[in-house]
Amino acid sequence: MPRNPRYDVLFEPVRIGPVTAPNRFYAVPHASGMTNAMPRMRAAFRETKAEGGWGVVCTGYVSIDPASDDSPLPYATLWDEDDVRSHALMTEAVHRHGALAGIELWHGGGSVMNRLSRTPSMSPSGTAWMPTQVSYIGTQRPRVMDSQDIRELLEAQRRAARRARAAGFDIVYVYAGMGYLPHEFLLPEWNHRTDAYGGSLRNRARIVRELLEVTHEAVGDRCAVALRVSLEELRARPSEHAPSEAHELVQLLADLPDLWDVKMDAETTDCAPSRFASEGSHEPVISFVKSLTDKPVVGVGRFTSPDTMVGQIRRGVLDLIGGARPSIADPFLPKKIAEGREDDIRECIGCNICISSWHDCVPVRCTQNPTIGEEWRRQWHPERVPPAPHGATVLVVGGGPAGLECALTLGRRGYEVMLAEAADELGGRLRFETRLPGLASWARVLDWRRSQLRRLANVTVYRGNRLTADHILELAPVHVVIATGSRWTPLLYTPLEVPSGTLAGPRVYTPDDVAAGVRLEGPVVVFDFDNYYMGSALVEHLAAAGLRVSYATPSGLAAAWSVMTNEQPQTYRALAAAGAEVHTLTRVESFDGEEVTLIDVFTFARRRLPCRALVIVGARLPEDALYRELTARRAERVAAGVASVTRIGDALAPGAIAHAVYSGHRHGRELDAGDDARALRRDAPLRALDHARTSA
Ligand code: ADP
Ligand code: SF4
Repeated sequence: MPRNPRYDVLFEPVRIGPVTAPNRFYAVPHASGMTNAMPRMRAAFRETKAEGGWGVVCTGYVSIDPASDDSPLPYATLWDEDDVRSHALMTEAVHRHGALAGIELWHGGGSVMNRLSRTPSMSPSGTAWMPTQVSYIGTQRPRVMDSQDIRELLEAQRRAARRARAAGFDIVYVYAGMGYLPHEFLLPEWNHRTDAYGGSLRNRARIVRELLEVTHEAVGDRCAVALRVSLEELRARPSEHAPSEAHELVQLLADLPDLWDVKMDAETTDCAPSRFASEGSHEPVISFVKSLTDKPVVGVGRFTSPDTMVGQIRRGVLDLIGGARPSIADPFLPKKIAEGREDDIRECIGCNICISSWHDCVPVRCTQNPTIGEEWRRQWHPERVPPAPHGATVLVVGGGPAGLECALTLGRRGYEVMLAEAADELGGRLRFETRLPGLASWARVLDWRRSQLRRLANVTVYRGNRLTADHILELAPVHVVIATGSRWTPLLYTPLEVPSGTLAGPRVYTPDDVAAGVRLEGPVVVFDFDNYYMGSALVEHLAAAGLRVSYATPSGLAAAWSVMTNEQPQTYRALAAAGAEVHTLTRVESFDGEEVTLIDVFTFARRRLPCRALVIVGARLPEDALYRELTARRAERVAAGVASVTRIGDALAPGAIAHAVYSGHRHGRELDAGDDARALRRDAPLRALDHARTSA
């Protein structure tokens, strides 16, 4: 299909200093979980974005010096010639598709612990960044930088910039954001210096200016120099010379960088989940930048709608449409717009599972795109699947995220697929969860798959069909895939987290009961040891229905795991807005239908709360009875010609939606595939030493 002319502006080239981006789609730097130990995986992951039409594809954060060591978090390095070769794999891959490659050079300053290098970290005035927060917590404080440290920092940037040029990058960054070293200089709370680098904003910005200058000197006119800067805090600070210190900073440095890459300050605002922030949430902070510089400006905002993107350009907010999450959820987003296939865009749902991968120190995962990070390791391409060896019939039982993804993948491969869903609507857990406050955009998981399935003549969907083992044996497909999900249970645990039996009795509920529309009487206590979003979202949901709700958890913090998805602060605010008391470090000891007794996990102190409904958000168990019955009736199965029965998704192992989608996709790809296709390739660092040995 031809491109919609309304979107032509998105495909205009943009000059960035000495280089030209072929279009306005800019895959901004973002953590990928892939370090220099995974150079092939990393190159293939970024190559896929370039193949999908992103005009610029950037690295994640790349350390310029061993004194900036974020171990054990998965950061990249550019410390020596091995690192140059490692990154060159990516630049070559990106260039093959006509895109530019950008590198985010980084020094963590007081935010890193240098756990591996054991060099004391440093910051402008010896202050650590968020030293009591998970990821940053440590037992050693940074040292105060002296003038020698400043000279060495500039030299480290210069060396790294030269290496970046040698590795083939087109855009080289100075990174003054997110609490990293140059950002610490900009903020007076971290910078108490009395020399030329502290005091006025002009002085606090001096280090950024000098970093930009040495980078320009190092790369000459071969590469553009970009400045990535966080403006949220500075925007809130008054200035004597401008509407805010953010304005003053942009005025001071206006045309020094070839590109402004502007963002928010902290993970929770910079990469906020859709539950609490909408598309374009950065605009109020960064919209002024273009009015103060002639250089192009890139920014993010979880943009997935081409109309919103065009709006950003036309309204003079941005020149380049930055995408981190949208480029993960759909590396082919630009190409789909170019080909008039906007409806095919697999839109990011804003769940931030991708961010959790970084916290977990593993390659990026995505709820919407199961192929991300698997481009090299499993040879999975987001837009192509291997054809089925034959057109056998496959019955997929269950139309939740796992069943939908599996049916879609099998259908794309050419199997004859029947998808049976017991409920009248597809979606599985999404049918309820997307009705919870803030989670409406998660429906994109269902919407995209449903619309793609509609185009496949070889996939038939049966709704309102609860299948039994007898039905399945009668249908006699060649393969059966069981995607029947899981159920929440009122199971409790001991302090050692050993299951201690279910809490039976009246007025004890699980999220499944709330989903089924059971009417609860207040006051309600939600007891959460799932620790992700369900507990707090239910509190909001029940409070919105007018019930008085309290929240209790054995964890030290409400929704403890949601620190991984950047949503914990907002979750606390949501609980407060719902009027919920929060009780942490506590377990449910007993419930008599009128009062619940909570017991402190450490002190064993007891507390009683009035409670007419206890909702336990804890363990989920697989809904796998159908699978077990079919496996038990082996002889009948064989007689019916059913060659395989496989469990996927929550029916195999309950987890986040991302796990279910991945499980469905993997089975869809691997059915009837040989051992080679299933093999997990192992990446390894490029080392000159090894290279010398192999060539000797
Ligand atoms: P997952 O996340 O693994 O996809 P879900 O719980 O979201 O799991 O979805 C499972 C789906 O399977 C639900 O929509 C449920 O109605 C459906 N289902 C469960 N048992 C059967 C059955 N016997 N026949 C058809 N559909 C079923
Ligand atoms: Fe978007 Fe979620 Fe995928 Fe991240 S994991 S890119 S937030 S859909």
